[in-house]
Amino acid sequence: MVNMRNAPPTPANYAQRSGRAGRSGQPALVFTYCSTGSPHDQYFFKRPENMVAGAVTPPRLDLANEDLVRAHIHATRLTETGLSLRRSVKELLDVSGENPTLTLLDEVRDSIEDLSAKKRARQRAANVLATLREDLSGVAWYKEDEWLEHVLDQVVKRFDETCDRWRTLYNAALNQARKQSEIMLDASRSQADKDQAKRLRAEAESQLALLTDVSSLQQSDFYSYRYFATEGFLPGYNFPRLPLSAYIPGRRVRQQARDEYLSRPRFLAISDFGPRAIVYHEGSRYLINRVILSMSESENLTTSGVKQCEQCGYLHPLQDGLGMDVCEHCGAQLPIPLRNLFRLQNVATQRREKINSDEEERMRLGYEIRTAVRFSQHEGTSSARVGEVKPLGKTSSGEEGEPLAKLTYSHSATLWRINLGWMRRKEKSQHGFVLDLERGYWAKSEQAVDEPDDPMSPRTARVIPYVEDSRNCLLFEPTVPQKPRVMASLQAALKSAIQVRYQLEDNELAAEPLPDEKNRRSLLFYESAEGGAGVLNRLLEEPNAMREVAREALRLCHFDPDTGDDLRRAPRAQEDCEAACYDCLLSYYNQHDHLLLDRFEIFPFLFQLAQSQVALSPTASTRSEHTEQLLRQAGSDLEREWLSFLESRGLRLPSHAQKLLESCGTRPDFLYEEYGAAVYIDGPHHRYPERQARDTQITECLEDLGYFVIRFTHHNDWAAIVAHYPHIFGGQV
Ligand SMILES: [Zn+2]
Ligand SMILES: [Zn+2]
Repeated sequence: MVNMRNAPPTPANYAQRSGRAGRSGQPALVFTYCSTGSPHDQYFFKRPENMVAGAVTPPRLDLANEDLVRAHIHATRLTETGLSLRRSVKELLDVSGENPTLTLLDEVRDSIEDLSAKKRARQRAANVLATLREDLSGVAWYKEDEWLEHVLDQVVKRFDETCDRWRTLYNAALNQARKQSEIMLDASRSQADKDQAKRLRAEAESQLALLTDVSSLQQSDFYSYRYFATEGFLPGYNFPRLPLSAYIPGRRVRQQARDEYLSRPRFLAISDFGPRAIVYHEGSRYLINRVILSMSESENLTTSGVKQCEQCGYLHPLQDGLGMDVCEHCGAQLPIPLRNLFRLQNVATQRREKINSDEEERMRLGYEIRTAVRFSQHEGTSSARVGEVKPLGKTSSGEEGEPLAKLTYSHSATLWRINLGWMRRKEKSQHGFVLDLERGYWAKSEQAVDEPDDPMSPRTARVIPYVEDSRNCLLFEPTVPQKPRVMASLQAALKSAIQVRYQLEDNELAAEPLPDEKNRRSLLFYESAEGGAGVLNRLLEEPNAMREVAREALRLCHFDPDTGDDLRRAPRAQEDCEAACYDCLLSYYNQHDHLLLDRFEIFPFLFQLAQSQVALSPTASTRSEHTEQLLRQAGSDLEREWLSFLESRGLRLPSHAQKLLESCGTRPDFLYEEYGAAVYIDGPHHRYPERQARDTQITECLEDLGYFVIRFTHHNDWAAIVAHYPHIFGGQV
C-alpha cells in the first residue's frame, strides 16, 4: 500500500511513487490525499485520470541555457583531467600558515591546466555540442567553436572563483576568532565585552570546523562535489543553485553541540534570511541577527545603485554613480535612484526562546520585496525577443485587429529582488536596514523597543539588501492597461494554465506583477527551476502556444473555451464558483491577492486571447514596427513584394535590410543576422553576364565570412525556395 500526502508534482512522479507497491504482479492500493489549499492538488482531484493514467511527458530542460551547457563542459574537462575534488574545498586550497593564502594548490591547478586533457575535452565537448545544434541556433550567446574555446580557456579561472564563497566564509570566521581573542585578552575591556567576545569566538571556531571537518562532510553543503554543483560550476539538478547560508548554532547539551549551515536559494533567502527574520529549524526559533561580512567588507562595504522604471519595472544599474534618464525598455522618465544597495551575504543566527506578538505580526506581514528585471545583453544590445498577440481574423471593417498584448522573452535575464524594509514600518519612504559595519549586526527597528538588542559598534550604515540571479523571463504587457483585479486574476490563471499545459511543478514557474503590486502594469513570468524549463520561449516562438494556454486558463476558470459558456464550477465540484475558488484562481501561495481574484473579470480578455496568434518579431521591436521599417528600407518594389510574401505567410522576417557588410563591399537586400544568411532579391538586370560575374564574386566572399547566400529572382518559385530552408525562414509553407 502506498499513501501519498499530496498529489505528486507530475504523472511521472506519480508513476514512480505508486510503483513502490505492487511489484512482481502483487495487488496494491494507492491513496493520494489532495489538500484543499493547493490548486495543484485540487486540479488533479477533479481530473484524476490526468494523474493516474500513466501518460508521462518527458522532462524538459532548456538546452539553450548557457550556465547549464557550460557546467557540463566543465564536468567534461574535469573528467578528462582525472582530478579528484576530494572531500572538502579545504583539500584543494593552500590553508597552511597563520595567514593562509587560500590559493589553489599547485597540483590542483596543474592538473586542471593540463593541455592534453584540454584537447580530449574539446573533442568530447564538440561532439556533444554538435547534437545540440538545433537548440543552439539563434541563441545570442552561442558562436560555434568560439564559445567552446572560450569556456575551455576560462576553466581554471572559473574553478578558482567558485571557491570564493568558501574563502569568504573561512576568512570571516578566522578573522572573527582572532579579533575576539584579542578582546578576551585585553585587560582594559569590561567583563560584559569579554563575555560577548567569548561567545563570538566559540561561534567562529564552530564555523571553521563546519567548513573543514572532513569526517562530517558527506551531508554538508561543503562536501566538494555538492559545493561545486551548487555554485554552478558543475551540473547539479538536485541542489538549489548559488544558495545563501545561515549559520545555526547548535544547542549545547552535555558539551555536545550540532552546529550547522542552512542554505536557501537566494531568491528565497532575501526574505527568509532577511534582517531580523525568524527561521524555524528542528523545532526551535532562530533570529537572523548578523551578516557574515568578509574581511574586506568590514573595512569598506561595497554598495551599488540602480534606477528602476516605475512604469515597467525595468532595471538600470548606475555606472560610476551615473545613470540614464529614460527607461531602455519603455522610454518613460526614470525616478531618482535607489542607493546603498547591499548584496545579501551569508548570515548568522541566534536562538530565540520567545517571540512577542509585535514580532509575530511583523513576520506575518513580511518585507516589502521588489523585483526588477533586465534583459540579457549581447554585444551591447538587448538580446530579448518580442512578439505581439494578435486576434485571429479581421474586424468587421476588414482590418486586422489591434494587438492584445506584447510579449518579450529574454534568455537568462538578470533578475533582482530588493528588500526595501518591513511592510509594517513607520516611514514608508525610508528604505533599508541599519547594519553594523564592524560586526555585521542588524539593528532592531525603532518600533521594537522591548526586543533584546545586540551591541552595535559606532560604525553603522543604512543599506538595502538585494540578491541577483539570471532566469529565463517572459514579460506579458497588455496593450490596453487593465484594472488591478484583472491583472491579479490573469496572473493566477495564466500561471496555472502554463503549469498544467506543460506539466510544470508549482516551483518551476514564478509570476509577479511589475513594476509592483500596487501598480500592476505587466506580468513577469520566470522559470525558477535549475536549468530552466524551456517553456516560456515556446509561448513566443510557437504562434499558437499562447492561444492554447488561454484556452486552458478558460477551462480552469470554469468556462467553455469554444463557446465561452459559464460552466459555473469545476468538474466534480459541489458548489458554484461565484468569483474564485481553489479549483480556479485561489491558491495557498497567492493569499495576498485573494480579495482581487475574480474569474468573471478576466473572461473577456481570456476569451480574446483564446482566439489569437503570436506574431514574432526578429528584433527587440514588435513585428509590425519591424515590418514597417524593413518596407521603408527596401530598395525596390520587388523587395517590398518579397517582404509581403513573407508577411502573408507568417514567415520569419529578416533582421536587417540593406546592411553594409564592409569586407565584401556589399549590401545584401536582407540579412538574417542570427542565422547567418544573406538574401538577395534579384531584378531582371542581374541576368547580364558582367552582373552575374560580380554576384558570384560577392557570394564567394560572403561564404568565406561564414554567410549563407540565398537568391530570389522575379521569376522563380519563392515558396519552393523558402520551403527548402525552414531553419531560416521558419514555418511550414
Ligand atoms: Zn520602463
Ligand atoms: Zn472557481
